[in-house]
Amino acid sequence: MNSPYARDIAHVLHPTTDLARHAREGAQIIVRGQGIHVYDLEGKAYIEGMAGLWCAALGFGEEELIAEAANAMRTLSFYHNFAGKAVLPVIDLAEKLKAMAPFPASKVFFANSGSEGNDTQVKLARYYNNARGKPAKKKIIARERGYHGVTAAAAALTGIAVFRDGFDVASGEVLHTDCPHYYRYGAPGESEAAFVARLAGNLEKLIAREGADTIAAFIAEPVMGGGGVIVPPAGYFEAVQRILKRNDILFIADEVICGFGRTGAMFGCETFGIVPDAMTVAKGLSSAHLPISAVLISEEIFARLLDHSETAGVFGHGFTYGGHPVCAAVALRNLELFEERDILGHVAAVAPHFQERLRAFAGHALIGDARGVGLMGAVEFVADKATRKQFAAPAGVAAYCVARCVDHGLITRTVAGDAVAFAPPLIITRSEIDEMFARFARALDDTERWVRATGLLP
Ligand code: PLP
Repeated sequence: MNSPYARDIAHVLHPTTDLARHAREGAQIIVRGQGIHVYDLEGKAYIEGMAGLWCAALGFGEEELIAEAANAMRTLSFYHNFAGKAVLPVIDLAEKLKAMAPFPASKVFFANSGSEGNDTQVKLARYYNNARGKPAKKKIIARERGYHGVTAAAAALTGIAVFRDGFDVASGEVLHTDCPHYYRYGAPGESEAAFVARLAGNLEKLIAREGADTIAAFIAEPVMGGGGVIVPPAGYFEAVQRILKRNDILFIADEVICGFGRTGAMFGCETFGIVPDAMTVAKGLSSAHLPISAVLISEEIFARLLDHSETAGVFGHGFTYGGHPVCAAVALRNLELFEERDILGHVAAVAPHFQERLRAFAGHALIGDARGVGLMGAVEFVADKATRKQFAAPAGVAAYCVARCVDHGLITRTVAGDAVAFAPPLIITRSEIDEMFARFARALDDTERWVRATGLLP
């Protein structure tokens, strides 16, 4: 009972975990991290192929950020931004984020997590429409397989069953439209352009059915992460934006994963030609050294909030730790390091190699699709490459493969649709990319042997 494994089982409720399985098998306990590697309690080293949860952009244990945190904590261990108070690192960070943003942002609101950021977006979209005298314009359109977090409003946006089922997520105000995964949802013989046109048509029909005057916003990740690393087909976001503009519907970009270099550009919006009205960022904002997220809003949204406050008084939203001075100082230093070290230049240099190595797995007997952009990607398992038929869900082929990756010194994760994702720290080198995929190839071969031995594949 004294081992950390037993005490973990006894005391910790784990997020996004198969609880019954965890109670039987216990945790993998990580005790240390450095660069692209983490180390478990047994002293074994792993390449962190997911940068933790898509977040440790500059890797683990970045000394500059550690020093910044210590300095900032010594200067001001905490202060808040409520009721007209402000702290200097937050002012600096807001100014920096606005200068970087892929749209003309007016103000930046700080929170602690992506979920809180997206909850804030939902509340702001409603508040904005109340403020401009459109109290019926409230619904949000999200997408099947989108992931926007787990707080009450964010879970309603999320379009993946496991994050909703059983939680009685209130979903009356959220509508879900199609997932733009051409490989999986393209009809037989349908071109990519025809697929995009069909999805755009469905979005238009949804808006017409509900009434544009009832819909406040559309929210999307430029590339769906947890939904399976779904890279949108060419023309998709252009078509969506045209429809939204015509119907006076805000575009909220969820850049929680894509932001800060993951797709190759600073923001996924730039990679895919999106000009949003509001944007949520988190994760890479501090390279996950401390929790912080931010919501950026347009001048039009802020102007209405400001007008409204003349009569309504206090803008009644905020988190105790939103804009924590230590987290803000670390995030600011992180963004400076992005520039000083030309992280985007590095991503541009290594991403083509990452994509080439990743896509080579499409030739493997178990892999139907290998896809990605920048330094993110996924491979999708299929039982039949010709028909794209998937393994029956309980087979857990991707989960088996992820467990074999651990044997071979690689941490990665399953994502929706029986797929395994890759999103390593952005500092990964070309040779480390080779090593990561060499380890994955061994795990994949183990998986093929297991699949054949269990009769899942003839
Ligand atoms: N949005 C996206 C696109 C995410 O991937 C995530 C988390 O993975 C979130 C929102 C929620 O962020 P958090 O877990 O910090 O609440």
